[in-house]
Amino acid sequence: MNKILQIDVEQICKTCGNDRTKMMDIVRAVQDKYGQVSDEAINIIAKCTKCNRVEVEGLVTFYAFFSKKPKGKVTIRLCNDVVDKMSGLERVEQAFKKELGINFGQTTSDGISLEYTPCIGMCDQAPAALVNDEVITYLSTDKVKELVEDLRKHYDPNKIMHRLGDGNNANMLVHSCVHNGIRKKGGVILGDYKANEGLRNALAISPVEVINEVKNARLRGRGGAGFPTGMKWQFTRAAEGTKKYILCNADEGEPGTFKDRVILTERADLLFEGMAIGGYAIGAQQGILYLRAEYNYLRKLLEKILDDRRSKNLLGKNILGKKGFDFDITIQMGAGAYICGEETALISSCEGLRGDPKTRPPFPAQKGYLGNPSAVNNVETLCCVTRIMEMGAAWFAELGSKGSPSTKLLSISGDCRLPGVYEFPFGIKVSDLLKEVGAEDAQAVLVGGPSGQIIGPNEFRRTICYDDLATGGAVVIFGPQRDMVEIAAEYMEFFVEESCGFCTPCRVGNVLLKKYLDKILDGKGEPQDLDFLQSLGESIKVTSRCGLGQTSPNPVLTTLKNFRPSYEKRVKEATNGLQPLFDIKKALVPAEEIAKRKSEIFNA
Ligand code: SF4
Repeated sequence: MNKILQIDVEQICKTCGNDRTKMMDIVRAVQDKYGQVSDEAINIIAKCTKCNRVEVEGLVTFYAFFSKKPKGKVTIRLCNDVVDKMSGLERVEQAFKKELGINFGQTTSDGISLEYTPCIGMCDQAPAALVNDEVITYLSTDKVKELVEDLRKHYDPNKIMHRLGDGNNANMLVHSCVHNGIRKKGGVILGDYKANEGLRNALAISPVEVINEVKNARLRGRGGAGFPTGMKWQFTRAAEGTKKYILCNADEGEPGTFKDRVILTERADLLFEGMAIGGYAIGAQQGILYLRAEYNYLRKLLEKILDDRRSKNLLGKNILGKKGFDFDITIQMGAGAYICGEETALISSCEGLRGDPKTRPPFPAQKGYLGNPSAVNNVETLCCVTRIMEMGAAWFAELGSKGSPSTKLLSISGDCRLPGVYEFPFGIKVSDLLKEVGAEDAQAVLVGGPSGQIIGPNEFRRTICYDDLATGGAVVIFGPQRDMVEIAAEYMEFFVEESCGFCTPCRVGNVLLKKYLDKILDGKGEPQDLDFLQSLGESIKVTSRCGLGQTSPNPVLTTLKNFRPSYEKRVKEATNGLQPLFDIKKALVPAEEIAKRKSEIFNA
């Protein structure tokens, strides 16, 4: 037994109260200190928290940012999202391999690990990478060379030389090169507001009246599903239980989404005010901000803002003199799992478990965090609440369309001249949006991230709102040069990686979809494969257990519908009743490389 490891890990567990529900914090601290969570560390954690080692190991192996195997002191995670690939990722990959002298998945002898990671919320400044928690944007071959040379002088990601970004990115607590990329300010989220007026107004009326005001504003969840917020709060308030929680979902992992990043950087007070209003409305004493691991670089700033709010009695006991209203907010870090954006998986993660979705019912409003009634709301939704309570429901509903009042923040990236964050009124036509962002020649637009829809020019007259094209915020534009079958295959690769594996349709079905797309891209597709893709995709949607599987076939289904000629030109009827489904020569290549000789039969 390594005595030092034992003392350290026991101390970490003790700091977290040996509480198994704090498992994410415990494992994260061990990972940070030792660059791994070894079998030995897992045994110590299990003993201290009085749980089975399998539970600890299950958690360590579930999250991408934890590792049983040792990693270097520095880990470079290069984002390999579709938009990064469209922005020159291949050159950057080669540059990293050359400068470090290793392949992806390896560690240099001086302790630098190189890995891929899915979307890190920087599609507007791709290609981008994380170096431990530091974000490096707009990567080029020259920048990679400079970065690696710089790192090798000190091996400390905090000392990497870079130009600071705008706004709070330049705050010493953030000290990041990220740019906010705010292109259009609407009047609701990014406009001026009177700080804490919304909270004061809320505390002047009863919690039920606050819920009614939110209902009158017809606020719907901004995360994508669009569930009415007032109704969610009404259910949570009415649920039995003395302890209630409001959880903020700041895990925006949908590839192409980065608008919450900007809110967290520039409008955290607006968000925390909304959480306090929500806490008052549902009768909660605690709020939890679930922050994705990729945004850890914002954590110190967010903690400072929370401290400032405590010192002003905007959090804590008897808030703003309201007797009996005690409420505070803590931050729970994620650890790299897309599925944790699903509300029940997020709750599992907050409870110190793998991010497995839970079976519904019961819904979180009845039985959520640690079995208590909980409301899970998106970052932007909670900011809307603050504005509703400041300005009133009528003001909020003035903008937007009939079924979708007010504005929506959109993260726009891909083949356009002006990527960034835009606040548009709901109901904007896709064609108008394309003009504004400099993408008049777009071939396709992905609305709502990979789980949304990929539409073509014949649908650019459609509008962005809950009743037509609903989106949590991601809009990715594809120019005429892009191959939409390849794009669909890229997104399916993402879903194959991110499926939690709990249910068969999602775990196996997505792999099959990807396999058939590869077959078609490889020139071996037959016309009936398109029917197979269609029926398999539809089946996965209706038989999967959670939102991930229920939407994961969308890249295939929407491109099949809107870009069918791209598929049809790639498939051909079998000749002589035979179609070469399997290329034995190609399949033998890995074996030939290992054996260091060519097959005599197939290379004759
Ligand atoms: Fe997990 Fe996919 Fe099933 Fe959801 S649908 S529970 S992500 S396997």
